[in-house]
Amino acid sequence: MSERLQKAIANAGVASRRKAEKLIAAGHVTVNGETVTAMGVQVTPQDAVEVDGVPLTTEQKVYYLLYKPRGVVTTAHDDKGRKTVVDLLTGVTERVYPVGRLDYDASGLLLLTNDGELANGLMHPSFQIDKTYVARVKGIPVGEQLKRLEKGIVLDGKKTRPAKVKVIRTEQAKNYSIIQITIHEGWHHQVKRMFAAVGLPVDKLSREKYAFLDLSGLSAGEYRSLRTHEVRGLY
Ligand code: URA
Repeated sequence: MSERLQKAIANAGVASRRKAEKLIAAGHVTVNGETVTAMGVQVTPQDAVEVDGVPLTTEQKVYYLLYKPRGVVTTAHDDKGRKTVVDLLTGVTERVYPVGRLDYDASGLLLLTNDGELANGLMHPSFQIDKTYVARVKGIPVGEQLKRLEKGIVLDGKKTRPAKVKVIRTEQAKNYSIIQITIHEGWHHQVKRMFAAVGLPVDKLSREKYAFLDLSGLSAGEYRSLRTHEVRGLY
């Protein structure tokens, strides 16, 4: 079975398809030892494809759901030597990558996979997955603040899609609230920026749900494989 070179690179998790096209055009890619810069070349699993001299892996696809604890970075490597989410996948030998990001000080549900096609699809802006967070915020919200969150907040000139917001608990005496929010995009620090925009700074954040997946059965730092029907449900 053959496929286009840029698709093979994207499926191996090296880059998105658009970025793969740029890598090809810039001469970073070889097929059976020959540099290929033309688009649309077809390759099969028998062809040796390398990006910057690194062969594409044809590992079996694996999918993990991690309960990320606070104080861990969402990258495969950290220049500052901090613990990464990949370090928590003890016993996993495949080269997996996180699907999206959770902040260093945030906890919760994070997917990791070596299936570049799925990862790139899930992270693509046109494929907006529901993500539910629980935030502990400073202050007690009033109706107007909640309404603004629900209607969507303008961040860097772009408006978020309407969010679902539910106040779980307020602590008047300690001046904090626990609020659940479901958003659809995955912008940088999105939840913190949305709450900050309405005057409710976040001091604790956890992602409880990603699409139909949740954290049930896991404690912070633990992970499990996705079941076949769960992988299918994400495609
Ligand atoms: N929004 C944030 O502000 N931080 C996260 O980690 C995820 C969503």
